[in-house]
Amino acid sequence: MTRVPPGGVIGILGGGQLARMMALEAHRMGYRVAVLGADENGSAGQVCDLFFKGELDDLDAARKLAHASDVLTLDTEHVPSELLAELESITPVRPSANVLGIVQDRLAQRRFLALHKVPQVLNAEVSDLESLQAAGDRVGYPCILKTRRSGYDGKGQARAECAEDLQSAWKSIGNQPAVAEAFVPFEREVSVLLSRDLDGKLVFHPIAENDHRHHVLHTTRVPARLPADLTAKAEQLGAGIAVAMDYVGMMAIELFVTKSGELLVNEIAPRTHNSGHYTFGACATSQFEQHIRAICGLPLGDSSLLRPVAMLNLLGDLWANGEPDWTPVLACPEAKLHLYGKQGARPGRKMGHILVLGDGSHDSAEHAVKVAHELERAMTPVVQSKS
Ligand code: AMP
Repeated sequence: MTRVPPGGVIGILGGGQLARMMALEAHRMGYRVAVLGADENGSAGQVCDLFFKGELDDLDAARKLAHASDVLTLDTEHVPSELLAELESITPVRPSANVLGIVQDRLAQRRFLALHKVPQVLNAEVSDLESLQAAGDRVGYPCILKTRRSGYDGKGQARAECAEDLQSAWKSIGNQPAVAEAFVPFEREVSVLLSRDLDGKLVFHPIAENDHRHHVLHTTRVPARLPADLTAKAEQLGAGIAVAMDYVGMMAIELFVTKSGELLVNEIAPRTHNSGHYTFGACATSQFEQHIRAICGLPLGDSSLLRPVAMLNLLGDLWANGEPDWTPVLACPEAKLHLYGKQGARPGRKMGHILVLGDGSHDSAEHAVKVAHELERAMTPVVQSKS
């Protein structure tokens, strides 16, 4: 198995913020970074050594990236697995084309979980009008229709309150092949953040507790409010998935925790993940360094939490009146500002995040969340009235 020591070239398919943060950590470790992306001035284009312009299904551009790289990885699961399989004949792709083939199709992912007896949200395939009705009957109401491919952050999703809503919900996601899921009235959402190296060794970062607003991650707090037995169960479940996939790299598994203490998989992300951003500042080894270590065949690093922490996403909405005033964040000694260098803030677009570190007292994660929310309020633009 090819190992890539520092000095080698890491190729990344996708040029967003995950690629940017991987590149920052890779540079610190002495690697060079090549990126395939649509915009050379985008988040990763600004910080990489070699840039290949192209869409993620552009085989010619991807081949050029592969020839320039000692190992390839991804910042999104939406790179066609067939294209990745082609690239595997040029250079190692980690995680593999096979893994991406499972994860990038919601139905294949659900079937994989069922095959391996992993507890998950009740779901059913939707391919035509007949199966749409049958799926609604099977999962019950309310339910959520999700496109099989290309969905993220609630995009490609629609909720049906009752059987009468099904057709319009399906229409609103483009009458595409989909999966219907039971709506889970969960108590919390958490994510297991794990890494697996070339020799099969697994390391867990502390589980993240996630608060979503409008289907987009808003705040993460760590440590999560999860009892020790459920933490162990969640990690065991994650390990089962990673081993069954023969996975290499960082992986995030989003889970719903129900009131009765059940853990149900919502989805798997075969990459570094937004809910793991807290590790880049609050852990001995960030998820980005850990991913690089895993895909390059290095030993995995220490994933310990150094300080309790809250992570708050900065969405484009904060830019409604132009660049936000960062003074409150910069004046807060326990806060760290991360901006992704994106041009063109749009509502809902992930532009950056802040970490607020706790002081180690027993409720310091709670305190960090409170401070993060106060900073958000201080930055939120006052909407100008039109009159
Ligand atoms: P997803 O893009 O599938 O991760 O969905 C984004 C967010 O929508 C999740 O983190 C949940 O907060 C919510 N969500 C998605 N699916 C369900 C479900 N089946 N039941 C309840 N909430 C859901």
